[in-house]
Amino acid sequence: MLTKVQCQPWISVEIVALNVGSTDWCYTARGGCAKKVGPEEGSSSDTKHCNKDNGERTERYKVEAIAHDNTGCINLLMWDREAKKLCGKPAKEVKKEKVRPHTEKI
Ligand SMILES: [Zn+2]
Repeated sequence: MLTKVQCQPWISVEIVALNVGSTDWCYTARGGCAKKVGPEEGSSSDTKHCNKDNGERTERYKVEAIAHDNTGCINLLMWDREAKKLCGKPAKEVKKEKVRPHTEKI
């Protein structure tokens, strides 16, 4: 008799670039829910839809990364949990900081 074994494959890649502009790296959600909410509290798209979306509105990461291994390149989307691990701080803290465009001379 054969035994069915499930396994999750892992692929090791190196991130070579983040494909983000000044505002498209995050979005607004509410409470513990990951769904995007409207730009303003109380707007028509700002409706409650689950039991996790109680609480404060906050920024969450949505970062497009370009990664490669020895077989080629892929675009990956890093959501809040992964991007927060890499960045070391929540998106709302990064948004508060004054981020200087890379074209500006120091
Ligand atoms: Zn929700």
